[in-house]
Order: sequence, then structure tokens, then C-alpha cells
Amino acid sequence: MNNNFTYIYKTTQKELHGWYVADNRRECTAERLLINPYNGCSVGCFYCYARALPGYFEEYHKEGKIFVFENFPEVVEEQISQIYVSSCGYLSPVTDPFQSIEQKVGLSKKIIEVFLKYNIPIEFITKCEIPQEVIEMIKLSSFEDEKSCKKHCFGQVSILTVDENLRKILAPNGADTETLFLNLRRLAENKIFAVCRIDPIFPYVTDRKEDLKELVLRAKDNGAKHIIASILDMPKKIYDFVLDNIKKFFGSSVYYDYKNLYIENIGYINAKLDYRMKVFDYLRNLCDKYDLTFALCMEYRVTDGYYEGLNKIFMSSTNCEGIDIPIYVRKSSEVKFYPAADCKGACLLCKDAICGIEDLAQGITGPKGLKLKDYKLFGKKLQQQVLF
Ligand code: SF4
Ligand code: SF4
Repeated sequence: MNNNFTYIYKTTQKELHGWYVADNRRECTAERLLINPYNGCSVGCFYCYARALPGYFEEYHKEGKIFVFENFPEVVEEQISQIYVSSCGYLSPVTDPFQSIEQKVGLSKKIIEVFLKYNIPIEFITKCEIPQEVIEMIKLSSFEDEKSCKKHCFGQVSILTVDENLRKILAPNGADTETLFLNLRRLAENKIFAVCRIDPIFPYVTDRKEDLKELVLRAKDNGAKHIIASILDMPKKIYDFVLDNIKKFFGSSVYYDYKNLYIENIGYINAKLDYRMKVFDYLRNLCDKYDLTFALCMEYRVTDGYYEGLNKIFMSSTNCEGIDIPIYVRKSSEVKFYPAADCKGACLLCKDAICGIEDLAQGITGPKGLKLKDYKLFGKKLQQQVLF
């Protein structure tokens, strides 16, 4: 594994887009605009999905190159200026938005500025320290009105273990455990919705009930309102690489336990269903008991040849990220977007499309992976309608 990173600066014209949907598999309830200002991530997790992706990510995995798209904030603004229907922005699906290069080039911060300028909410997921400037930018001040997108901006912090020695193995260049819990506290103290992700849980390494309980309770004490969990799964392409690292860090015995446990093939190589169900059942009950909402991330079983999402059984919130964020729309004469009334943003489950865009209501149409061109089309359809 190469942890000596080289930074390659590039310009890009890549387009904003929604979730990638393969084989009808989608568990994310809400739409998001996915934003990766960087390809490659200096946090350096050995199990990172990005290691299995094509293109620049191959160079990241093999050679430790991190690609920095220095013009991306301008590209994002240009694309947002062309749409009239928008979902919440998401920094970032396959890289950490606050990895170390962010301190130098600030692309994530600039992209947040763009979203706020247009009054579109934005969320982030991180294993690093959240920059104070970002918290100041997204917190709702007393002078802002009820249609401010800031009330829908939120942060997710990935905390995989309470054991700092394990954290150094699982997220080697991320923030230390204290800082991660402090991230939650800093969000909560500024009234920003805070999510703790135990994503993924490592069988036989981070799955002890008492450790999970300690993690959940510390997250709650620090202000988290929602827990998201998953069990480690492995893209086929990096299966050997991940297992070699399991052996290197945790020994041969754990390695052979993984060989026996990882026998399901649900797009990725997954742990046995009964193992996963037991862990999820424990966590859901724990969260119920301590008044936290709970959801899974991308966990499936195969039923009658179809992928069935396990959130149907285990999710206690309306949206898997724990917060209901409406779709945002704007009039062609205005810069700012505003929330569509009465929408909870759970498009995957929605059957009534009170927003007026039936193509978004995937309770009717089935799961979709939206592209920028779809968002442009939604805007045209809405031109004659009064939404807010
Ligand atoms: S922090 Fe996330 S994106 Fe970065 S290496 Fe780890 S798993 Fe990959
Ligand atoms: S009303 Fe339904 S389909 Fe329309 S944006 Fe909201 S959740 Fe999605």
C-alpha cells in the first residue's frame, strides 16, 4: 500500500450527478448531487472502495497519486446556474473532503460557498477534523430566515472504533478518536445535525458488543442524533488486497475467519447474512433504547433473485441519513433556490410527487441514478408551476 502521496493538479469539466445505480440496487432514500473535488484520498484506508474504481483511482491505488481538480468549484457553479431543481450537495462519495490537501487548496470550502450562494443545502462525510471555517459557514444564525438552506446542511463523522490503536490502522491519516468525537460535539453545539457513521464494522475486530455500545453512547453524549452502520464488504477487484491487510494487521486466525465469513456475493463480497443481521439487530435495539435513530448503508440480501435492501427491516428514520431534506427549486428570475413545501426528500419511497416532478418519485418509477441532464429537464417541467 502506497502512503507516500503525490498531488497532480488537473482541470475538469466533469458533471454533477446523483447516485450510481446498478442492478436496481439503491438504498439511499434521498437524492444528492455528488461532488468529488479530489480523486484519491490521503486518509489511506486499506479497504477504501475507491481503490477498486477505474481511471484516476487506479493510479491512486497503485501509485499513491491524488488528483486535485482545481477548477471544480467554478465548474460546479456553472452547472448549478443551469438548473432550477436541486437536491442537497454531498461532499464526497469516494474521497474525504477534509483530507490534508484541503488545507492548502480549499476546494471543498469553495464548493460549500457556491451551494450557500444559491441557497442549496450541502452535507459532508469525514474521518478528518472539520475545519472551523466550514462550521461557521453552515451554522444557522439568528438573522437567517426559515427558508435558509442552512437548516438542512449537516455533517456525518465516520468513527469506526473507540480504540485509538485500531483507529491508526483503519484510518491511518485521519483525525484521532478524540477529535472525531469532538467533531460531533462541535456540530451539535452549533445546532448542525450530526450523524455518526460506524461504517464499516470489521468482523472480529471492531464488532464486540461492549465496544459498539461505548461508541454509540459516546456519539450520543457528543450530540449525534443518528447512527449509520454497515459491515465491511469488499469489491472483488480488491478482495485479495483487503484480506492481505487483514492478515497483516490482525493475524492469520482473523484472516481465516474472514475467508469463512465472506461467502456472499451481492455485487461486492459480503459477510454471511445471519452474521450481519445479528449485528444490525443489536445496533437497532441499542439506538431505540437510547433515543437515536438508526439506518444501514448499502446492506442487501438476495430474495427470489432480487436485491432487497435491509433498511426495510432496520431503519428507524424516514431518510437513511436521519434528516429530512426537501428538494430545492427556484424561479428562473432568481438566483436562490427554496425548499419545496411538504417534501420530506425520500424520493426512493415517494409515491405522490407533491413536488410536481413524477420522474423523481421512485416509489412509482423504481430506483434511478440521475444525471445533470435529468435535473435540467426537471427545471423545464416545473417552469409553469407554483411551488412555494
Ligand atoms: S477516508 Fe473514505 S475516501 Fe478516504 S481513504 Fe478512507 S474510506 Fe477512502
Ligand atoms: S415530493 Fe417526493 S418525489 Fe418530489 S422531491 Fe419530495 S420526496 Fe422526491
